[in-house]
Amino acid sequence: MFKILQNTISTGIATVAYPDVPAVVSAQFRGRPEFDFAAWRDARPAAGVCPTGAIEITDAGASRRVTVDYGLCIFCGQCAEVSTDNAVRITTDFELATLSRASLMLVADYSLNADGTHRQLTADYRALVTADEVGGKVSQAIFQTLGRSLAVRQVDAGSCNGCEMEIAALNNPIHDIERFGIHFVASPRHADMLLVTGPVTRNMELAVQKTYAATPDPKVIVAVGACGISGGIFGTNYASRGGVDATIPVDVYIPGCPPRPEALLYGILLAVGRLAEKVR
Ligand code: SF4
Repeated sequence: MFKILQNTISTGIATVAYPDVPAVVSAQFRGRPEFDFAAWRDARPAAGVCPTGAIEITDAGASRRVTVDYGLCIFCGQCAEVSTDNAVRITTDFELATLSRASLMLVADYSLNADGTHRQLTADYRALVTADEVGGKVSQAIFQTLGRSLAVRQVDAGSCNGCEMEIAALNNPIHDIERFGIHFVASPRHADMLLVTGPVTRNMELAVQKTYAATPDPKVIVAVGACGISGGIFGTNYASRGGVDATIPVDVYIPGCPPRPEALLYGILLAVGRLAEKVR
């Protein structure tokens, strides 16, 4: 007993102060790939190696449209490795959760060269949200909205369990999501929020719909990871319905493969704001 107390005191507080203090992220962490559309002369090599088709090229006459979908991206970094013009680099950004699927799409229009490369950027749309959307004090916001803690039910619709490992980490002493008054529950009937991982497999489609129906209103639905947003590496096929929003309505999208705990926390906090709007 004395040793346990001694260890506890010598360890001190291990819980991170995120989001009040920015998260410390290792330099090796692979986050969002960043695209310098003005400097990008040829997107074809990156599109060719992208394993999920997150980079799409559409040519029409003398113009080219390059679309990057962060909802499909698994942050593998291959596009940065093959882009010789240094227009793509992997960052450590993880605060990417958005309220709409369209916000995860970047689109750039180019005029086309005869050799297939593109030259001048004619239009460049960037739609990612900023950290400001998360807003002020979370636990206070939850209490003002619900008058109690926020109950979250996690639903595995067919994931590889990578996202589950990160979600489980939210409850450890480092991330300690309960400090915000957010806790996981065992039944959708007790939940305010569904945290759905994985592409929705055909076998889980009905279960997801029933879980949605069993969750009382007002509720928020959060699609977790590339698979939850778009089907990710599994896509849409005979066994998979693709992203969660093909089966039930989604309020918040959290990109990543898997999203790290802080990215999940960021998305959940964003969803609290969405829930507050619904309650109002
Ligand atoms: S980092 Fe994303 S966009 Fe780049 S190759 Fe990998 S999946 Fe495709």
